[in-house]
Order: sequence, then C-alpha cells, then structure tokens
Amino acid sequence: MTDKTHAQTQLTVEMLYEVLDQLPTPIYIKDSNLCFVFSNRAHCDMVGKTAAEFVGLSDQDIHPAQLAKEFMAKDHAVLDNDRPLVVDEEVRYPDGHLHQILTRKAKYVAPDGRSFLIGTNSDVTLLKKREAQNRAITESIPVGVMQVDENGRISSCNQLLYSYMNREPSNISIEYICATVGKSETEFPGLNSRFECEIVDSGGNKRRLLFISSGWLKLSSSATRSAIVSVVDVSENVELKRINDEIVRLNNDLAENVRLLHDAQDALVRKGRLEQMGQLTATIAHELRNPLGAIRTSAFVMERRLRDSPVDLDAQFLRIKNGVTRCDNIIAQLLDFARGKQLDCKLMNFDEWLSRILEEEVARMPASVNVQCLLGLGDTRMCFDPGRLQRAIINLLANASEAMVGADGNEKLPDSRQAQISISTFLDGASVGISVIDNGPGMSPEVVERIREPLFTTKSFGTGLGVPVIEQIVTQHGGTLEIASEPGVGSSFTLRLPIYEEQALSQTA
Ligand code: ADP
Ligand code: MG
Repeated sequence: MTDKTHAQTQLTVEMLYEVLDQLPTPIYIKDSNLCFVFSNRAHCDMVGKTAAEFVGLSDQDIHPAQLAKEFMAKDHAVLDNDRPLVVDEEVRYPDGHLHQILTRKAKYVAPDGRSFLIGTNSDVTLLKKREAQNRAITESIPVGVMQVDENGRISSCNQLLYSYMNREPSNISIEYICATVGKSETEFPGLNSRFECEIVDSGGNKRRLLFISSGWLKLSSSATRSAIVSVVDVSENVELKRINDEIVRLNNDLAENVRLLHDAQDALVRKGRLEQMGQLTATIAHELRNPLGAIRTSAFVMERRLRDSPVDLDAQFLRIKNGVTRCDNIIAQLLDFARGKQLDCKLMNFDEWLSRILEEEVARMPASVNVQCLLGLGDTRMCFDPGRLQRAIINLLANASEAMVGADGNEKLPDSRQAQISISTFLDGASVGISVIDNGPGMSPEVVERIREPLFTTKSFGTGLGVPVIEQIVTQHGGTLEIASEPGVGSSFTLRLPIYEEQALSQTA
C-alpha cells in the first residue's frame, strides 16, 4: 500500500461513528469516568434517547439508582481488571417491555493513554424465551433426556434422568451412566442404539428403563458431535405383560378346574346311580331269580309231559328257554356291575389268552359277522383279571354285533356291506392297547356323550350296562377306555391297560 492510498483510506472519527451508526448491534463508548462519549443509533433506539441527550451523561443520569449502580460496578471491574466481561442484563425498553440483553464490555486504551469502555448489546430475549420453553418441555415430559458430546460432556440433562440415575447434577458423568447401564463407552451413547436395563432410582424403586441413543450427530456448527439420549420407564409395560400372563395362566387354570369339576360331577352322578343301582339290583335279582327258576323248571316239566302229545309246542318252549336265558344274563350283568367284583389277577401271555377267548366268543356270534384278528403283542406277559377282561371283550363284541345284526340274525347295515369286526392288540409305551372296531351304523355325538352312563341304552331290550361295565373293568386295571365313532361309518373302542408284571393292581372295586 502506498502512502497516498493510505492517506485516502484513513478513517476519521466521524467516519467511524458513521459506520457504527449503520450497524444493527447497539454499541456505546464510555470514558474512564463512565460517561457516554458515543452511542450508535441502534443503542439510542434501545435506550429511547437521541445521541445528543445521551452523550456526556452516565448511567446514574439515565437509569434508576440501583440499576445504574450495578451497571457501573461491572464497568469498573472491566476497566480495573483489564478483562472483558460478558453479562446478562435486563433492560426495560422505551416500549415498556423488559428485554434480556447480553452485554459484552471491553476496555480500550487509546494511543494517548486514555482508557475507554466499549460495550455491545445483543437482544437475546427471544433466545432466552425459547431456552425457557425447551427447558419447561424437557422437564415436563415423562422421558429422561440428555445431550452428551463426543468429549463425554453432558451438555443438558433433565431432572427425571438425574433421578433415574440416582445422581445429583453435580456428580453425574457419562462414565457413571455407562457403568450403571452396563455398556462400554465405545458403544454408548455414540452408536445409534436401544436397549433395556434394570436400575434402582433415587426413590429406591426398581425400574426397567428403555435407553434410546441417537448416536453421534452434528447438531450445530461446532466441531464436536453430540448424541441425544432418551430414557423411557417401561416397568409398567413389563408389569402389565406379567399381569396379562398371570391372567392367561389363571384363566387356563380356571378352565381346567371347571373341566375337572364337570368330570367330578359326572362321576358323582354315575356314582349316585351306581349306589341306587346296587340296592335295586340286589332286590330285583333276588326277586326275579326264584320266579325265573320256577318258569324254567315248569317249562322243562311241561315239555316232558307234552313230548308225546300231538300239539306241537317246540317253538314256544324254545322261546321260553331263550327268554329265560336272556333274563338270566341280564340279571348276571346287573349283579356283576352293582357288586363291582374284586380283581383276581394272573400273569399271562396276553395275546395267547385273547386268541383263546376270541375262539369261543366268535363261535357264538351270528354267522353273518366277519371277524378279523390282528394280535401284535408277541410274548408280552402281563398281570390282569382274565375273567373280568373277558367280560369286557364280550360286551364289546356284543355291542358291535348287535349294532350290525338284528335279533333275527339279519344284517341291518344301510348298504349291502358285509358286517365286520376287527380286533387288534398293540404295544403303546408301557401300555397294552386293545381295539375293537366295527363298520356298523356308528353313533351320534349325543349317544357317544352318554354312552358311559349306567342304564343308558338305545335298545328296546338293552340294560345300558355294557359300556359302564367295560369302563369299570378297565379303570380297575388302571387303564382307560377311548370311544370314537362316525355315523354311517362305524365305531371304535380302544382299551389301554398299563403292563403290570405283578399284582400291583387295586384289588377292590
Ligand atoms: P346296551 O348294549 O345294553 O344298550 P351298552 O352300555 O352296552 O348298553 O351300550 C349303550 C349304547 O351304546 C347302546 O344302546 C348303543 O346305542 C350304543 N353302542 C354301544 N356300542 C355300539 C357300537 N359298536 N355301535 C353302535 N352303537 C353302540
Ligand atoms: Mg351292550
């Protein structure tokens, strides 16, 4: 730069004041007595006076005494200590409103040795208002929030987060938070992440907290990045889930108990009927056996006396005999059921025994029924009451055969299919299974539901005791009876008996 250009560009004081007047920032200069020597236009507007009214005066002349004293104390501090000062001040503007002003005061020493105080004001009213709003929001939300920068400095943190972390603002640190939540400083809060952990808060309450970190973000023009961390109390959700699970469990228990109650009621009804039956049967059997015996004997005598008579009564005598045998059987079944005979168990090869009794029983069945056997137990030996189990098998075969063939010996199947009964045995874990399956008319769901009730029958001459007796025998052997049926297709009865190799079975009814 040449001397000439230097001279041309040299600023005069007036020019400088003119420039300062153009600036939007309020600027003022005070001398060492703290009297205003300059006030730019923005500063004049702020104070509500013209520069002429202003220059030469001190704060004491302009502001209330207390306020002026405060201002001037700070001015003195700057001039005396030679250090700039940044202060928050409240100034009432000419419009009557109180403004938040950030004032920067600095000392300037002129070449001639005189000291001046240069002040600049920034109106931060709006900024402060926003800050206060933000603070109010952060403090009122039910979420813990903090901002941490890359250097590990917590630049803001709400009260809730302090209380979750059980720490005062003065001694909280990111190291402490990491240790509390069990995270390393490399993963938290720098990585975008969410995780849950359990803590004990300042009130001694155990809480489950959900931590959500934004990971490092560039939030402002500053070089360091920050992470925003939100902390949500999810204890209640966990508690709700636990309560919900508990309710579901209780409901299941309740449903199971209701089912058990129904079963128990059913059993009671059955037992009640059983007891009634026991008394009735004893009486009926006693009362019927004698007249039946008398009928049988009388018929026998009559038959002998009339043997040579020209009147042919053979058919009638046969009917009497069959009728008496049938009644005898019914009485035997009633007594058998009502007394609930004790078991008399023997250790036997099951299949061998079954094939022997099937030979006898199948021979007694109507010729039109085709019987198939598939015995699959091999050498399995087990302890059971052969007499009682034979009764169960007979009842099963009788029911199947009665369902398919009428009293006249004719099939009563809807189509012309051959009446068939399949008997099979099989091993099922530690149990023996015996299935009797027929291709008869099957049963409606209502019949299946009531079939185990004593005295339930759909037959005109039925006793309704066949199935209850089977179930009684199976239960005495510690086993179960499964019944399945499809109308029009057939029925299947499966007995499952645990394999006992010695007489461990209940010996009482
Ligand atoms: P009952 O034979 O004296 O009627 P049960 O207790 O043996 O008494 O059988 C009850 C009822 O169950 C029968 O009346 C019949 O309706 C039905 N039932 C039993 N077994 C069969 C079967 N294999 N097929 C169709 N219905 C059957
Ligand atoms: Mg029967």
